[in-house]
Amino acid sequence: MDDWKALRVSAERLAADFEALSQIGATPDGGVHRPAFSPAHLEARLWLGERIREAGLRFRIDSVGNHSALLACGPDHAATLLLGSHLDSVPNGGRFDGALGVLAALEVLRVVKEAGLSLPVHLEAIDFTDEEGTLVGLLGSAALAGKLSLQELQAPRGGRAELLAGLQRAGLSESGLPGARRDPAGLAGYLELHIEQGPRLVNAGVDIGVVSAIVGICSYRLDFIGRADHAGTTPMLDRRDAGLGASEFILASRRLVLDEFPDCAINVGEARFAPGAFNIVPERASLALELRAPQADTFSRLETALLDLAGATAGSHRLGLEARFLGRHQPSPMGSLAQQAITQAAGDLGLRSMVLVSGAGHDAQSLADLCPTGMLFIPSQAGASHSPREFSQWVDCQNGANVLLQSVLRMAYRK
Ligand SMILES: [Zn+2]
Repeated sequence: MDDWKALRVSAERLAADFEALSQIGATPDGGVHRPAFSPAHLEARLWLGERIREAGLRFRIDSVGNHSALLACGPDHAATLLLGSHLDSVPNGGRFDGALGVLAALEVLRVVKEAGLSLPVHLEAIDFTDEEGTLVGLLGSAALAGKLSLQELQAPRGGRAELLAGLQRAGLSESGLPGARRDPAGLAGYLELHIEQGPRLVNAGVDIGVVSAIVGICSYRLDFIGRADHAGTTPMLDRRDAGLGASEFILASRRLVLDEFPDCAINVGEARFAPGAFNIVPERASLALELRAPQADTFSRLETALLDLAGATAGSHRLGLEARFLGRHQPSPMGSLAQQAITQAAGDLGLRSMVLVSGAGHDAQSLADLCPTGMLFIPSQAGASHSPREFSQWVDCQNGANVLLQSVLRMAYRK
């Protein structure tokens, strides 16, 4: 008998958790502000630890700060099926991103525990550290996967001093971080429920997205270097204006992607001009550049094309260019076992599903080449995310949690 197919999450319990968590780091406009290791983030993790203990699950914090609930429901030496997401947010982000996946994972463990199921695997619900890359992108999952780059730790995108201060606030040490690595032989798989963060599911009127791959993401700090001059007396055509070169690069790089890399995306999310005064021609313009591509070959062609463009633009304005590489996550195909489990679970629940590529990075990409890994998306209203406007209908959250539960059981039983 496949009695487990009738199991469902408790929507009330999940909703109560979601409402309580949404209050931690809440912003007046209905979002949350919980950057990694901020006071609100640490408070959210304390809250999660209490929920885990309250549920009678084992609670563990590893050396990179990942918070886990453990349910030993398999034979002694069974591998562990991980499920989870992240409690950290971008600055002034939404309530659903990451939080829903962690709470749904915890709820799945509670349901399996209450049902007294013996599975061929153990279950672990995990809240990964700094998924959003406030300090180091995918810090917790990369460390768990043994992929933590020491180079990234020396020059993290959030700043080295900030990283060290954050680790200290969380009671962690830099030297301890690589120790969070897990033996892949002990991992039976990884599943993550997340909001889509884009408009495709809503536009298609589909309930569940089955993720086929996660785009690769790469970031650079680009500094255009010119010459500081008097803003009134230096003739316009004699200037070596770093701000002008950087601005032209922003416009030209968008054109390049639209014309030559239609399935890719780039963003210049921050620009700083120095010395930074009304009456000085900018000597230095510093840009934060991020690029994304779904396949490895397009990814490297895009990276080369953008660096070439930056060099050419700097040259045409008689500027120097410093391109500092800050980190790269390769595009990650999701496993067929997980995709199948999610598709079948959704079908059994009477939900419509479709296959899509994730344009956002996720912890699942750290694990994709180590164990059977999959992600499922629920619709994001208006496609809004990384914003207080982020919203998903509660029925979709509930559906997603039930698909997660049933996918976990299918993965566990290999059905
Ligand atoms: Zn997320």
